[in-house]
Amino acid sequence: MFNKKTVEDIEVKNKKVIVRVDYNVPLDENLNVVDNTRIKLSLDTLNYLMDNDAKIILMSHLGRPKGKVVDKFRLDPAAKELEKLIDKKVKKFDETYSEEVKDYIENDMDYGDIVILENLRFNPGEKSNDSVFSKSLASLADIYVNDAFGAAHRAHASVAGVPKYLPAVAGFLMQKEVDTLTSVMESPRRPFLAILGGSKVSDKLQVIKNLLGKVDSLVLGGGMSYTFYRAKGFEIGKSICEDEQIDYAKEMLKLAEKNNVDFLLPIDIVIASEYDKDADKKVVPVQSIPVDWMGLDIGDKSIELFEKEIEKSETIFWNGPVGVFEWEKFEKGTKAIAKAIAESSAITVVGGGDTLAAIKKYNLSGKFSHVSSGGGASMELLEGKELPGVAVLMDK
Ligand code: AMP
Repeated sequence: MFNKKTVEDIEVKNKKVIVRVDYNVPLDENLNVVDNTRIKLSLDTLNYLMDNDAKIILMSHLGRPKGKVVDKFRLDPAAKELEKLIDKKVKKFDETYSEEVKDYIENDMDYGDIVILENLRFNPGEKSNDSVFSKSLASLADIYVNDAFGAAHRAHASVAGVPKYLPAVAGFLMQKEVDTLTSVMESPRRPFLAILGGSKVSDKLQVIKNLLGKVDSLVLGGGMSYTFYRAKGFEIGKSICEDEQIDYAKEMLKLAEKNNVDFLLPIDIVIASEYDKDADKKVVPVQSIPVDWMGLDIGDKSIELFEKEIEKSETIFWNGPVGVFEWEKFEKGTKAIAKAIAESSAITVVGGGDTLAAIKKYNLSGKFSHVSSGGGASMELLEGKELPGVAVLMDK
């Protein structure tokens, strides 16, 4: 349940509303927006505010300019893309804050119009959550809206600072993301299956532990499964492994047993002679990885096993590829899992940068109940943490 106020719970008519959006979009070398998904995701909130005659002041970060003005990280391409999507002029400022910006908003801007400030991270005060910077931004508006779920886990000025000085509410994207992810964790339809992949166990320590208290089964694939095989005493050859996490992996295997969670690891592995897209490959049972080979994908028997698990589940959460899906020779497992989840009639929730890249690659983007726009933020929710960008909003 989302227990924070949203734009619908506050009078926005004839008000100046500053909206934190996540326009951290990928750009090509000619500075064209390659993927406008994040901009599209903000449109529900922006349309609502336009329809309700607010002056809309957008702010976002883009890339990592490290507190300096870096031309290639300016927000002009994002502003142009937004103009195309809403078929309306969007005034873009070259500063995050100045007296001129304030004067324009106050005196020249019409209600129902949109302006966008320059990349917040050009100012070092953004990342350091500087109170002077936060107050300057807050002084531009009457109301603060956070619709940047992808940045909600960062205690930066525009996320955790500005809302301290204004009535602060959530946008529709923020509401939907937090609502979906928390209800999946708190009251899933059962059986509840989580599928985790990716390269490192250390990125998901708290997530695995928290999920083991919630799910009925946990499937673990990808690079991080090898640390678990080591915990079981298997030879893993040259496969990726975090030695310092072996004890943690043992602890998680025990916790799964204690909590009655089916902990499923791949049973066969596609191994490669070296870490290369054209490397020789073969499939072996997981107990038989030769010392000088490495596992880069799951084998057909594992795919079958995981597909069965997907078929019998009512809620499925997936984060992380189960192999090096970027390389054709090692993509079969991730592709099969992605398809099986997409075809399932369960509630399906997916998140994480690589996972989103995979579902895009296989043309499956529209086929899940919810695709989370925030990798880091969704992970923190799954860890059971409260996001700083949500905590600071007004309670219902
Ligand atoms: P992460 O950044 O931790 O989410 O991991 C995603 C990356 O893990 C992807 O780029 C995959 O190429 C990589 N990956 C998946 N399986 C393996 C594996 N078995 N060995 C090495 N890397 C892997």
